[in-house]
Amino acid sequence: KAKTYYNDDADLNYLSDKTVAIIGYGSQGHAHALNLKESGIDVVVGLREDSSSREDARKAGLNVLPTAEAAEAGDIVMILIPDQHQADVYKKEIQPNLTEGNVLAFAHGFNIHFGQIEPDPDVDVFMVAPKSPGHLVRRVYKKGSGVPCLIAIEQDYTGTARETALAYTKALGGTRAGVLETTFEEETETDLFGEQAVLCGGASELVKQGFEVLVEAGYQPEIAYFECLHELKLIVDLMYEGGIERMYYSVSDTAEYGGLTRGTRVVDSSTKERMKAILKEVQDHTFADEWIQENKDGLPRLKSLRSDLSKHKIETVGRELRSMMDWIDEDDEEVVETAAE
Ligand code: NDP
Ligand code: MG
Ligand code: MG
Repeated sequence: KAKTYYNDDADLNYLSDKTVAIIGYGSQGHAHALNLKESGIDVVVGLREDSSSREDARKAGLNVLPTAEAAEAGDIVMILIPDQHQADVYKKEIQPNLTEGNVLAFAHGFNIHFGQIEPDPDVDVFMVAPKSPGHLVRRVYKKGSGVPCLIAIEQDYTGTARETALAYTKALGGTRAGVLETTFEEETETDLFGEQAVLCGGASELVKQGFEVLVEAGYQPEIAYFECLHELKLIVDLMYEGGIERMYYSVSDTAEYGGLTRGTRVVDSSTKERMKAILKEVQDHTFADEWIQENKDGLPRLKSLRSDLSKHKIETVGRELRSMMDWIDEDDEEVVETAAE
């Protein structure tokens, strides 16, 4: 069972004479910067020279510096830019400005676990990974609560890395909900597996192929869209609130019987075997090597896959149908709001 920490296990004093540099002001960056600042922590935000986020951060009352200067000012440097750009920015702007006893922090383990960033031995390295998008991290904090977070300690030069990580998580709001301890390896591998096999990859292919089966059988694409994609949200919300049992409790007995008897025919033990193969590619670095190379090549495969998807009937029909549903906010704030209640 994972070790869990709450407010009483964390002491903000570990941050009291420290400056936290938040590098990046995107989904996670804005939430970390603002939550920490409102928790009384001294925060600076590091952004690239031509950053489009500078205005937003300044307007929110934050002290914005060029990345290298922020890294120099920070005793704790939290890197919150996209994972594929972190190694470059680390080498050029951050590493030269870290001094003995500083902390290098992450919200995801990819770069450390796959050796893209190799920190000097005289700094602490930890992860504070909220288990939700940044906008929810911010919204829930403002309501006086927090989202569950993971922490992991990779390097403990000072002897106080765990205390500092817990203090950071408390300032972020995470200890209000509960903080689970993991490792960079476990967080990275489970995160990649989850998004590939289940959340992003598995779920969307299930939806697409279900849609294709109905359309190829002569049903109207609009109807297929509602049945295979639109209603998925309702089902996922039920699972989120009360597990799979709650979902089956809420749907009709017909849906329950049909789902329990047919679902295992669609996703069966052969699917599980292929999931295991995907996990193995995560564990043996095949996926990471491929993704790093894809970035070096300028994302040819990703761009072509994006373009294929954009032309798929489920997307073209979906764009039209969603324009009829004026309560849907394309920026997803609605979904985030709902999840935050
Ligand atoms: P975002 O894509 O939202 O980050 C955007 C920020 O990064 C912007 O400030 C942007 O700068 C800056 N940025 C982008 N490219 C570069 C670059 N090449 N050089 C310098 N700055 C750059 O990131 P996320 O918040 O999604 O992710 C940050 C970290 O948090 C990642 O490690 C991710 O895995 C992790 N994480 C993300 C979660 C999420 O839900 N999004 C959940 C948990 C962890 P500009 O303002 O100039 O455009
Ligand atoms: Mg991920
Ligand atoms: Mg994830």
